[in-house]
Amino acid sequence: MAGTVLDLIRLRRDFHQNPELGFHEYRTKQRIAEILKGLGLEVCVGTGVVGILRAGQGNRAIGLRADMDALPIPETSTHGYSSNHPGVMHACGHDGHMTMLLGAAERLADNPQFDGTVVFIFQPNEEHGLGAQAMIQEDVLARFPMDEVYAIHNLPGAPLGQVSTRAGQICASESLFEIAISGQGGHASMPQVGRDAITIGAELVTALQTIVARKLAPGSGAVVSVTEFITDGQRNVLPGQAVLKGDVRARVPEDRANIETFMRQITKGICAAHGVTGEMAFRTEFIETINAAAPTAAVVETALNSGLETNGDCAPMSFSEDFAHFCAAVPGCFLLLGNGVEGAHGQPLHASDYDFNDELLAIGAAFWAQLVRDRLPIHS
Ligand SMILES: [Zn+2]
Ligand SMILES: [Zn+2]
Repeated sequence: MAGTVLDLIRLRRDFHQNPELGFHEYRTKQRIAEILKGLGLEVCVGTGVVGILRAGQGNRAIGLRADMDALPIPETSTHGYSSNHPGVMHACGHDGHMTMLLGAAERLADNPQFDGTVVFIFQPNEEHGLGAQAMIQEDVLARFPMDEVYAIHNLPGAPLGQVSTRAGQICASESLFEIAISGQGGHASMPQVGRDAITIGAELVTALQTIVARKLAPGSGAVVSVTEFITDGQRNVLPGQAVLKGDVRARVPEDRANIETFMRQITKGICAAHGVTGEMAFRTEFIETINAAAPTAAVVETALNSGLETNGDCAPMSFSEDFAHFCAAVPGCFLLLGNGVEGAHGQPLHASDYDFNDELLAIGAAFWAQLVRDRLPIHS
């Protein structure tokens, strides 16, 4: 829209100063909706915000996703636009992701050199892996059908603007488990009378480590981590109850399914051997993110043509990303954009002094706009 010139740096810093946790992105959503409306887009606000931009007569549509939520981390940055909300911080760069996508919307609205529909998706609650599913449950895919879907995440420690992606699995799944062992507590001096849950739990912790080491193929990239061991024991009381909690990562759904099966087998076997009961719960919050071949090739081509340093066959990331749910429904590509290596830009994601690199805003917005022109070309 003529006369609208977004100051992307100011906008990003405004998001940074006003971070909101997953499913509480009220102000953020309002700002995004206002900006999109100001650019002349059709806007639909639900759990997230969707902006629609059409040009030409084409029937093809592509979706571009940004995430909106912040993290429960007290910011320790020393720059002048630190979080106004104590204990909440944009430590994953979602402030930058939203701004790059708004910058792309402005470029494309000003200069709609494409033929088809662009669906701008602003998703809540990525950090807990619930936002994409919430939008899908609200029927976003049926209401705004897309042929392809894309998402960018910044990558600190990688050179500014470097594009990394790969066809196939790019982000791991994350599953959470909880194993409850019910034995018989008793006097610490008379273990023979009870069934001590802590010894059995310890055996279980060690046995679970054999799954990746001995049940899966070498190099699977899977991880089984016991992260909590809680008992009701006291200094002179043997515990009757023990709860093990932890986290499982996998690169392919088959490994994830096998890990769950082996965990259940081991839990059942060890508990039976000691005459106690063991209950296991296993819940997958993030599924594996699988990039489809054609959209990934398109990202690589656009990146190369844009003069960006590009790695089209990077190593899979160890983190999880709930964009996976969009990719499971629509052929998609998740790509990483280097956030730079110096200072706060090189600090890891989720570090309390990490910062999104403002120099990436224009690069990302231009990349998004070019990807749209490349994927929805005007046929003369
Ligand atoms: Zn994050
Ligand atoms: Zn993130």
